[in-house]
Amino acid sequence: MSFVRVALDVPLRTLFDYRAADAVSDDVGRRALIPFGRKIVVGVIMELANTTDLPLTRIRSVLRIMRDVPPLPADVLSLLRFCSDYYHHPLGEVVMAALPTRLRRRHALKLPAVRRYRLTEHGLGIDPMALPGRATVQREILGRLRVSALGVDEQILRGLAPGIAPALKSMSAMGWIEAVVEAPDSSRAIPGLIPGPVLSAEQQQAVDSIRRESDRYLPWLLHGITGSGKTEIYLALIASLLARDRQILLLVPEINLTPQLEALLRARFPDTRLVALHSGLSERERLNNWLLAQNGTAGIVLGTRLAVFTPLPRLGMIIVDEEHDASFKQMEGLRYSARDIALVRAKTRKVPVILGSATPSLEIYHLAHGDRCRMATLTQRVNAVLPAIVCVATRGEKLIDGLSQTMLKALHENVGRKELSLVFINRRGYAPVLYCAACAWTASCQRCTAKLVLHLNDTRLRCHHCGFQEKIPAACPRCGNADLAPLGQGTQRVETALTRIFPDARILRIDRDSTRRKNAWNQMRDRIRDRDVDILVGTQMLSKGHDFPQLTLVGVINADSSLYSSDFRASERLFGGLTQVAGRAGRADLAGKVLIQTEFPAHPLYQSLCRHDYRGFAQTLLKEREQAALPPFAYLALLRAEAPKLETALAFLKRAADRGHSLAKHVTLYDPVPAIMPRLAGQERAQLMVQSRSRSALQVFLAAWLGILENHADRRVRWSLDVDPLDL
Ligand code: ADP
Ligand code: ZN
Ligand code: ZN
Repeated sequence: MSFVRVALDVPLRTLFDYRAADAVSDDVGRRALIPFGRKIVVGVIMELANTTDLPLTRIRSVLRIMRDVPPLPADVLSLLRFCSDYYHHPLGEVVMAALPTRLRRRHALKLPAVRRYRLTEHGLGIDPMALPGRATVQREILGRLRVSALGVDEQILRGLAPGIAPALKSMSAMGWIEAVVEAPDSSRAIPGLIPGPVLSAEQQQAVDSIRRESDRYLPWLLHGITGSGKTEIYLALIASLLARDRQILLLVPEINLTPQLEALLRARFPDTRLVALHSGLSERERLNNWLLAQNGTAGIVLGTRLAVFTPLPRLGMIIVDEEHDASFKQMEGLRYSARDIALVRAKTRKVPVILGSATPSLEIYHLAHGDRCRMATLTQRVNAVLPAIVCVATRGEKLIDGLSQTMLKALHENVGRKELSLVFINRRGYAPVLYCAACAWTASCQRCTAKLVLHLNDTRLRCHHCGFQEKIPAACPRCGNADLAPLGQGTQRVETALTRIFPDARILRIDRDSTRRKNAWNQMRDRIRDRDVDILVGTQMLSKGHDFPQLTLVGVINADSSLYSSDFRASERLFGGLTQVAGRAGRADLAGKVLIQTEFPAHPLYQSLCRHDYRGFAQTLLKEREQAALPPFAYLALLRAEAPKLETALAFLKRAADRGHSLAKHVTLYDPVPAIMPRLAGQERAQLMVQSRSRSALQVFLAAWLGILENHADRRVRWSLDVDPLDL
C-alpha cells in the first residue's frame, strides 16, 4: 500500500490522501503527522489505498505515523463514521473531537506505566498483626494485598493512605512485595466486591431479567420511580459483568454534580480500576484514563457524553443513567445525542444497553412499548414511600417575595420539627427583571433577546445567555426615575426573604453562583450531611440524583413559566424536572411532602404530577405528538442560521427551502422562522424545520440537500444542521 486517507480537523466533508510507503494495515486508526498547507498537523489514518485521485505531483507524504499508542479500534472508527453520516458533520472533525486533546497535538507523549503490586512468597508468610504498632501503612498494604492474589493497581494502593509510596519502596526492597507491569489483556482474577444491601423483590426481578439477556444487543428501559434504587441495579449488573471480565461504560449527565456515584462504585468494587472521563479533568488525566480504558485495564468507565466514543476492548454493557437528561445532547458543533450513540454502539458490539430514568424521554418510553426495547419497572421506593404532592393555588394571593402563606407555614412547621426543607426555584440571581414603574423600561441585554438578571450580592446586571454584565444603574436610563424595582424572584431574593422571615434558621443557597468556587459544592454537601442546614434554596442543580435522607419538605415556586412555552418538549421537561425535585423529598423513614405553587392548579400536568402518574401523562403527550406528527412519531432536523441581520438569516433559509423542495420526498419543509430567542450574543438567529415520518427518507433528503447548500454558501451567514434537535 502506498497511500493513506487521513481524517483532519477541518470543516470539509472529505478525507485527505497522503503518500505513506511504510503504512501497514495495523496503522488504520493510528495518528499521523501530516503537512497541511504550511502547517504540520495531527490526523487519523482512516483507510489505506493503492490509488489516489490526486495528481501524483501534488500528493504529499505523511511525515510520521505515530505508533506510540494503540490505534483507534475498528468499532470506534465505524461509530465515528456513523456519527458523521447521521449528523451530517465532517468526518475529520468528528474523529479528532473524539480524541483526548493531548492526542491531537504534535508533541511526543510520556505514557504512564500501569503497575500493580502483589505479595511475594516471603510477603505471604508475614502476619500483618505481628508488625510493630507504628507500621500502620505497611499493615494496611499487606492486608490489602492478601485478599487479591493477582495484585492491586499502584493507583488504588496510593489511594489507601498517605505515605504509601515510600512504604511500597521499602517493602519491595525487603522482598515482601513485587511490582508487575501489567500486560493489558493478561487474564485477571475475578475482582473482589463489597456486597451491597439485599435487593428488594422488584429490584431482584429487574436484575434477573436483564442478566438473562446479557449476551446480546438489547436496549432496556429501567423505569423506576425516584428513590426506587436504580443505582443498586446498575451495581448488581456491573458486578456480574466484572466477574466475567467485561468492561462497563456508565454514562451520566454531569459527574461534578454527583460525586457520590463515583465514591459508591469505588467502595463497592475496590479491586476494579475505575476511570472517569469528563471535561473537568486535566488533559493529562483525561489521556491517562482514556488509555486505561483503551488497553482494557479500566473495568468501569464513568463518563459524561464524550465518553461514549472511548475505545473499550472488553465492553460488556452500556448504562445510561437519567437517559432523559438534555445534557446527553451536545448543543454545538457535532450535535450528537450520546444516548442515541450509546444504542448504536451497543448494537455494533452486541451488548445490552440500560437506560435508567424515573421520567423517561418520550422517545425511549415509546420505543420500550415496541418489540425492539424491553422495559423493567420499579414501582416502589426502597424503605420509603413517595411524598404527597399538593398544589398551592396562588392566583389572587398576596405573595411575600414569591412565597405564599401556605408555603411559609409549612416551612415554619418543618423548621420547628428540625427537618430539612428545600425551596426550589429555577432561576439564579436576585430578580429576573429590573423595571422602571414610571416609563415601563426594563433592563435588557444589548446582544440578546433577553432581560438582564439582577444580581444583588455583587450589584450587577447579568445576561445569563451571553455573559454580558454591567453595573446596576442608579436611575432609569430612559426617564431618570431613581426608583427602579426588581420584578420576579431568583434564588438570592428567596434566600434573603427567608433569612428575614426565619432569622434563626440556617439557610443555604445552592446554585451555579454559590458553588462556583472550587470545592464549595463539596463543603455544602458536607454541611447538609452534618445537618447544619434547615432550609435549602436551590435550582435544578439540586434535583439530580441527590439523596438527602432528612429532607422532608420541598416547595416549588415559579414553575408556571414553562407551562405555555412554544417548545413542544417544554411540558415533558417540566414534568420530568418537577418529578425529580419532588423525588428528593422523604427518601428515608420520614414521610415527605411537596408543595407546588401555581396559578393553574387544575392544569393536567400538575394533576398528573400530584397523582405520580407518569404513565398517564406520557400517554396523553404521546397522543398529542402522534396527531401533530412530532417525535417519536416523526423525525426532525433543524437548519439553523445566524447572521448580523435577521433578514439575511431568513433569506438564506428561504433559498435553502426553495432548493430543497424538489428533493423532498416524504419530507416536509416548514417556513423559516426566527428562533425562540432570536438574538444571541449579537447574532440574529432563524431556523427551518424539516420533518418526516421516515428516518431514512429524512436522511436521504438531508444528504442531497447539504450537497446543494454547500455549493451556495453565503459569507454573511453561519449555518448548521441539527439532526434530532432537542432545543427549538
Ligand atoms: P433512584 O436512583 O432510583 O432514585 P437510588 O438508587 O438513589 O434511587 O436509591 C435510593 C436509596 O435507597 C439510596 O439511599 C440507596 O442506598 C437505597 N437502596 C437502594 N436499594 C436498596 C436496598 N435493596 N436495600 C436498602 N437500601 C437500598
Ligand atoms: Zn423610566
Ligand atoms: Zn446577552
